[in-house]
Order: sequence, then C-alpha cells, then structure tokens
Amino acid sequence: MITIKRDRGWEKPESWQDVESIPGYVRDIDPLSIQLDAVVGKYREPELRICGFSNCHTKHFRGYLVTTKDGRITNIGVDCGRKHFGVDFENMSRQLDRDWLNQERRESIFSALGKLDAWKSACDDLMNGKRGASWLSKQHREMQDFKTGLPRSILRSIQEMMRTGRTVLYKERAATEQEKAFAKETGQRMPNIVQEEVGTLKGLSGLAKMEELLPKDLIPNLDAIAEIDVDAATEGDLQFWSKWCGEVDVKVEQAKSIIDSAQIFFHEDNISKLAEISSTKDEERSIMRFAKK
Ligand SMILES: [Zn+2]
Repeated sequence: MITIKRDRGWEKPESWQDVESIPGYVRDIDPLSIQLDAVVGKYREPELRICGFSNCHTKHFRGYLVTTKDGRITNIGVDCGRKHFGVDFENMSRQLDRDWLNQERRESIFSALGKLDAWKSACDDLMNGKRGASWLSKQHREMQDFKTGLPRSILRSIQEMMRTGRTVLYKERAATEQEKAFAKETGQRMPNIVQEEVGTLKGLSGLAKMEELLPKDLIPNLDAIAEIDVDAATEGDLQFWSKWCGEVDVKVEQAKSIIDSAQIFFHEDNISKLAEISSTKDEERSIMRFAKK
C-alpha cells in the first residue's frame, strides 16, 4: 500500500513503478547535503524497498516518501528520517500518519453511509414490527403499573433476579413434619422455612437490556450520522463515528437477540410461572391477568 498526500487529496499509486515515475523522484539522496521539505507519503509493501539515503540504502518493508527543498522526492525506511532529521521529521511524519488515519476514518464513514438505509429499515422493523421494541416497552410500562401490572413483591423478585442473574424461581413454604423427622434422624439441621424450586423464568437478560441499545444508541445515532458533514468533521468526531459505524452490524444483531429474549419474557407461559411464587390469591389473579395481555 502506498499513499501520498497531495493538495487535491490522497493518491494511492498502485505500483512501485508509479512512485518511481513521480517527477523529481531519485533513488539516491545524500541526507547531509539536503534540506527536508515535507513528509508527503508512506508505504507498506510486500517487497523490501531500498532506502533512498545514500549513506543508508537499507531495505525496508515500511517507510515514508519525503521531499527536499530543491524539489526532489525519495523513499526512506520507517526509522531513517528520525535518525537523520530528528524532531522535525518526527513531527512531520506524525502529522502525516494522523492525517492519513483521519482520511481512512472518513472513507469508512462514507462507505457506512451506503448502508444507512438498510440499517435504518432493519432498526425500524425491530422497533415497530409485531411484538417489536415499541410493543415490548409498552408491556414493560404496564408490567410496572400499579393497576394493570404485576404485584409489587413479584416486581421486586424480578428486579433481584435481574441483578443477581438468578433464573430459578423459588417458593417459600413451611417444612413438612416428614422433612423435619427425616432431618432429625439423619442429624441435619432443618429450617422451618424451605425454599422450593418451582420453575425457571426465561428472557430476563432481554428485559434488562431492552431499553438500551436500540432506542438509546442505534436509532438516534443512525439519525445523527446522516446529518454529519464528514469532510468538515473534527478528529474526535471522525474517531467516534468510524468506530461506531464498524459496530452497527453487530449491534443490530445484538438488538435482535435482546428483543427475542424480551419477547420470551412476556410470553404468557413465562409470566404465568410467577403465579407459583405469589403469596395470595389476589396476586395470583393479577399475574394471570397480566400474562394474558
Ligand atoms: Zn535508510
């Protein structure tokens, strides 16, 4: 790969011959007798290229293209400029590296903009499709509603399960006489209250994450990126958006699986299991009513 910065933009010569045919190109420059003008390009080649400094001529896979005040251009090894020109060269090459990186970021954003419509329509489907994120959000609100939702104690259990990652549902009950007798015989301690496993609650991970990725990141940022003036964007913006664009495909997939999981949570069979841990008939009725929504 060869890249050269010109006033009109970046050039990417396809072959080394193209570099050698640049007007003023020389293979041999005495670094002691010249004045460095600019670092104008860089290369990373599959073949070794001989350094243009007459006192060096070492072979390098990577290096820079530099111009001199008297109008010549040559290629030098990646470390050769610093050795001969010190800090001046380092500042110039660092600036070129940075300009190039920003250019690559611009290019990756431009190519991402080509996928914008497809990304937006995928997110729109996830948001507004059947039992999509909008419907899930509504369910979530209603679940927490004092009148239409689940009993407070059940909501607290769900919160606790999300926090700890537990998925098993336990019901507390008094120990039976038989259990107490067995414990006594075998010399074990028997508590008066026993936690009994009554089922597994699915989709908690989806419930925990459903309000984040799609509504707070993907949808607003897909709108925001359409408004960006890529050519005029700051380095910080280029950095943020090029990285973000590189993650959209993965994030859309993540959003899909979060929604799948949240849909499973709100499934009638799943919510009904909560009736097992309810402590009153009233609670049980509220749960079954919400499960059927
Ligand atoms: Zn050299």
